[in-house]
Amino acid sequence: MFGLLKTWRRQRALRHSALDPALWHHVTRSLPFLHGLAPEEMQRLQDCAVLFLQEKEMHGAHGFVPSDAVRLSIAVQACLPILNLGLDAYAGWVGIVIYPGEFRVRREETDPSGVVHEYDDELSGEAWPGGPVILSWQDIKLGTAGYNVVIHEFAHKLHMSGGDMDDFPPPHARMDREQWLAAWDAAYDEFCGEVDRGVETVVDPYASEQPAEFFAVLSEAFFTMPRAVRSIYPELYGQLALYYRQDPAARLAGA
Ligand SMILES: [Zn+2]
Repeated sequence: MFGLLKTWRRQRALRHSALDPALWHHVTRSLPFLHGLAPEEMQRLQDCAVLFLQEKEMHGAHGFVPSDAVRLSIAVQACLPILNLGLDAYAGWVGIVIYPGEFRVRREETDPSGVVHEYDDELSGEAWPGGPVILSWQDIKLGTAGYNVVIHEFAHKLHMSGGDMDDFPPPHARMDREQWLAAWDAAYDEFCGEVDRGVETVVDPYASEQPAEFFAVLSEAFFTMPRAVRSIYPELYGQLALYYRQDPAARLAGA
């Protein structure tokens, strides 16, 4: 019953949506990784973004007031990975906090002798399990092929909702679990080896910190430089295409 009510509410929200077509074109034109999406996919992306803005709550921090263009840009970038998964992939939390630039968080770490060290960390984004996504608008604007802080943090939301916090997310029911994990293990081992040897990597070496970071960074790359991911990690690319139910390399080639 709850599902029917939600569907009805969403259909009503889309019927009453007052999204400015000029704003939609302005925002989507500025995101090159949307190129190649079919008109039907762009329409579903728009519907997803409208509902996203309705169901999530965005707040500025440190005096930042997110404009309609900022809000829509974040919604569109967050909706791209779940275009074929559905908005409920982001269920269970509502808040998005947007800082004008990098933000500082207090960290605590216990060393092997049991001494607790406190320090400040500067972040461009952070995702809390069951809580908000925090983003730096300056870093969102710096987005380029291989770097997309919105896709990164929302990819964290996907693995947090279904699995181990620090590990790769579980595959969908119809995917082959062995193939999924084998592709991640092989690519992650190879990547960490390259970082250890000081080899220059195509994606941020930060991705070697833990499997969940590798998943988030590879998700950014999958959508913003898919052909590079496909040529470096063909097995993993195939598994990501099954997971996200999209083939960005194919659609960019046709664009
Ligand atoms: Zn991360």
